[in-house]
Amino acid sequence: MADTAFTPRVFSGIKPSGGLTLGNYLGAIKRFVDMQGGDFETIYCVVDMHAVTVWQDPADLRVATREVAAGYLAAGVDPEKSVLFNQSRVTGHAELGWLFSCVARVGWMNRMTQFKDKAGKNAEAVSLGLYAYPALMAADILLYHATHVPVGEDQKQHVELTRDIAAKFNHDYKVDFFPQTNPVIEGPAMRVMNLRDGTKKMSKSGESDMERINMLDDADAIAKKFKKARTDPAPLPETVEGLADRPEARNLVNIYAALADITNEAVIEEYAGAGWGRFKPALAELAVENLAPISSEMKRLMDDPAEIDRIMARGAERAREISDPILAKAYDIMGFVR
Ligand code: ATP
Ligand code: MG
Repeated sequence: MADTAFTPRVFSGIKPSGGLTLGNYLGAIKRFVDMQGGDFETIYCVVDMHAVTVWQDPADLRVATREVAAGYLAAGVDPEKSVLFNQSRVTGHAELGWLFSCVARVGWMNRMTQFKDKAGKNAEAVSLGLYAYPALMAADILLYHATHVPVGEDQKQHVELTRDIAAKFNHDYKVDFFPQTNPVIEGPAMRVMNLRDGTKKMSKSGESDMERINMLDDADAIAKKFKKARTDPAPLPETVEGLADRPEARNLVNIYAALADITNEAVIEEYAGAGWGRFKPALAELAVENLAPISSEMKRLMDDPAEIDRIMARGAERAREISDPILAKAYDIMGFVR
């Protein structure tokens, strides 16, 4: 079956594993909003079952789940246009995740670079869930027959694994049931880097708060973090090619471009030869301009958790309407007596 036989449908998610960062905003949420109301049906999830692959204090998990939902809503995800819910309310994710654990091969999992990064030297002591997580992610996507998944660059390998799982399922059962999902990875902010180490990505679960901008940071914190962001001493180059071997400088230019919705070339045109003393405050100001209205709306929403929960419960109902028949058919194809 060609890709075109499937309804154009977007699925993506964010883990409530800490406070949302500028990386999550630029690499994911902002793009989720852009894809809304166009040619796609859009489904956005707070993937709480992925969060518990590492230890989460229960009270913190509740707060973080509502914070991610508030981040989506405040940035412009519209629950009338998109399906918005938290993963654990739709049990099909876990069910299809198990079925896919039996399709995916251990050799495939062993190639996942994110597991190696996250497990580090401690691979024997991390949870089995952290290792199996890409199979659950494939289930999140394929439970809706999603055709497109907007993600940051760090998730590319997991979407490729999703395609492999779909292809193996279709091949083994001689069906054309699951689509070949396309990752949508684009724009200057597909990989926002850590402010203290330009070779690592910015993450909400990273060690130090100084390495990331949180969506809820106030203007002072944002200015301070950019001011202290590590860079080389040279001024900004005359052309974008001049950023090639300067990961920290490139990162700050990428962030500026994404926030201003312009190209890196346009940023360099404006700031060619500028020192950090000029560029960093301008960047901080632009970030505050973008984030302040969103963070104040997030805070307002988080003061009313019952409303957030109501929106997610309604979204979960709509998610089940789409996914129940797909899950039932997957069980049927595999020979389960139901
Ligand atoms: P964690 O540290 O817990 O893994 P995270 O910040 O990596 O948190 P995820 O929930 O894993 O966030 O990812 C949510 C989405 O945000 C994904 O689409 C991911 O690709 C994107 N994303 C995460 N970090 C970045 C980043 N630094 N730049 C661009 N996109 C990012
Ligand atoms: Mg991550």
